[in-house]
Amino acid sequence: MSKNKSSESVKVVVRCRPLNRKEESNGPSGGIVQMDLGLGQVMLRNPRASHSEPQKTFTFDAVYDANSKQRDLYDESVRPLIDSVLAGFNGTIFAYGQTGTGKTYTMQGMWLDPEKRGVIPNAFDHIFTHISRSQSDKQYLVRASYLEIYREEIRDLLDPNHANGRGLELRESPETGVYVPDLTSCVCKSIKEIEEVMNVGNQARAVAATDMNEYSSRSHTLFLITVECGQPGPDGRKHIRVGRLNLVDLAGSERQAKTGVQGERLKEAAKINLSLSALGNVISALADGRSGHVPYRDSKLTRLLQDSLGGNAKTVMVATLGPAPQHYDETLTTLRYANRAKNIQNQPRVNEDPKDALLREFQREIARLRAQLNHRKWRSKQKKERLDDNGSDQEGDEDTECEEEEVEKEAKEYVMQEEQRLEREKEAIRGDRSLLSDEKQRLLGEKERMMGVLRKEQEATEQLTAKYKAMESKLLVGGKNIIDHTNEQQKMLEVKRQEIAEQSRSEREMQQQMLIQDDETLELRETFTSLQQEVEAKTKKLKKLYAKLQCIKAEIQDVNDEHVRSRQELEQTQNELTRELKFKYLIIENFIPPEEKNKIMSRMTFDPEEDQWKFQPLVPAESKPLQMKKRPTSAVGYKRPISQYARVAITMGANNRFRAENIMFLELDMNPPNTASLGHFKDAELNLSSSVDSSPTNDRGVHKSRSWCQSQKSLTSSSSNVSLSACNTAVPASTQ
Ligand code: ADP
Ligand code: MG
Repeated sequence: MSKNKSSESVKVVVRCRPLNRKEESNGPSGGIVQMDLGLGQVMLRNPRASHSEPQKTFTFDAVYDANSKQRDLYDESVRPLIDSVLAGFNGTIFAYGQTGTGKTYTMQGMWLDPEKRGVIPNAFDHIFTHISRSQSDKQYLVRASYLEIYREEIRDLLDPNHANGRGLELRESPETGVYVPDLTSCVCKSIKEIEEVMNVGNQARAVAATDMNEYSSRSHTLFLITVECGQPGPDGRKHIRVGRLNLVDLAGSERQAKTGVQGERLKEAAKINLSLSALGNVISALADGRSGHVPYRDSKLTRLLQDSLGGNAKTVMVATLGPAPQHYDETLTTLRYANRAKNIQNQPRVNEDPKDALLREFQREIARLRAQLNHRKWRSKQKKERLDDNGSDQEGDEDTECEEEEVEKEAKEYVMQEEQRLEREKEAIRGDRSLLSDEKQRLLGEKERMMGVLRKEQEATEQLTAKYKAMESKLLVGGKNIIDHTNEQQKMLEVKRQEIAEQSRSEREMQQQMLIQDDETLELRETFTSLQQEVEAKTKKLKKLYAKLQCIKAEIQDVNDEHVRSRQELEQTQNELTRELKFKYLIIENFIPPEEKNKIMSRMTFDPEEDQWKFQPLVPAESKPLQMKKRPTSAVGYKRPISQYARVAITMGANNRFRAENIMFLELDMNPPNTASLGHFKDAELNLSSSVDSSPTNDRGVHKSRSWCQSQKSLTSSSSNVSLSACNTAVPASTQ
């Protein structure tokens, strides 16, 4: 990517957490990570290699060791970025590293301990303190959204139904870049409110986490703060600057293959790996600068971070490391990743007067409500003047604020006077003996109605005022004390802290520059006084170059190993997916009729926006619009298709559907068994037939059926299988 005037590189800082108790108990080997805070260097020792092998050294914009404070990281590496966001730039901070290395600790920290509050709570403080201290001609509107990407689906954490619905979609516009159209965004007026928003989102995550173990380290979260600032420009018009801040906590970057996961978890892991490897590919493509194509579209994460990596944003990446020897490979991968990211160039610019600024909409709506309110009050005032019959009024040259107050006061007085007047008139009517009671009633009703109208009007005005005040309170105006602790001393302290942070940053940069220059001057010092000196100098140089060569050789080996490993992982994922694909094909080929398959295929369309296949909705064929709704002819007049028999039975009134008439075929019993061996059964049968002989019908088949059915009632309902006419004859016989 070509460097232009406004481009700046992604800032990369590295943080190493202390050894935890478990790691300490594992052995006395200590950590494998060493840091030079002054130079911004990380030295990594390979625990498996011999001590003679040189350590791997990486240089970054800043490094923070196990003793580093949250506040130091914020002041040095994050504060300048938040200041840029407040000035209208887009900014992104993302934490990247293996699970358990302190990404969430760095981003959120411990909210209740002021020393351990992470980047996000410090940024909240910073933003609202800045607003409260800014000039009074500035108006601010702060909004917050919170989303997570889980299994390649975007979920809105501020939407209570987020877990049930489908994932949100992504859209792209030339003005705002990539965005999520239906994302909830909450206007926040104070630190407390924005913290509340964060809590709601975190709770939504926690609820989902109960279903899935280690859920939190398997989803990426993004907290988005939009700060809009309106200020009159030199041209006298109001200008709006919009800064967007993305605070990203990524899922753990460890190799899932190492944990030996299977089935669903493997798929889940494959998706995390997919988005992280897509992120890796994007970083490589951008850092490399040679390949024109940057694969942002390979995952939702990379699309969301499109602006932050190689686009219109200032970006800080915090790579987190663990010092334990058993995670050497992951630590090295993280460092390589971070090292690559340093080379990415962004082109940040101020977002001035974007069309979709909410602040402008708010200002317009407030102006509209204000005009409405003023109109109402003026009307009331004028009515009062008419009432007072006071034509000579002092209109004109007072300033608007006083005038408004005057109008409001008069409007209130008018309402009170009107109420009193109506009350008086009502009393007078009640006391007037000359009026008929009907007439009195009518006049009182009339007055009552007038009072109702007056009250309604007053209520409407109150509602309008409340709405106006609510809207106006959402806009934060500079110069007002939103938080209490903005005293001078504190301000001074913060300024000093910033200065120190700035100084240590520039010191580090200078030291890094010196180191580079040292290398260069060594090559330039080619004039020697004696042969001996020349030999010494050249030997020194040779040694240095040899060490460099060894480092590079080791690096090549490492990169190759890593490449092979990630290739194996991808192959494993590919095999898994191919197996699943084959399985699905097998089902389709063997269990789905070809015509159904064709129907489904013809309904599929490709959505290029979302990069996936979708179903078209079902619509009836246009030539036969009624075809789909037509009922079967047998069901005319009935709720559902119904048989001839059931219809007749309904007309007869017997509730005989679903009885056993279709199961028994009575003809079978016409020939009783007559083999010798069944002789004793014959006797039993004779007894049975004599016991039912008293029944109204002498039909033998029907008798039999009765013996089966055990009761007279079931006989009438089941005898019909013979024929309906038989049934018709049987019924009168039984009633005779
Ligand atoms: P991740 O989000 O990367 O999976 P966490 O932020 O949850 O990791 O950190 C894992 C554990 O390590 C937590 O208990 C956290 O308190 C601790 N930890 C991480 N970084 C630090 C640090 N710099 N100082 C002290 N404790 C830390
Ligand atoms: Mg975490």
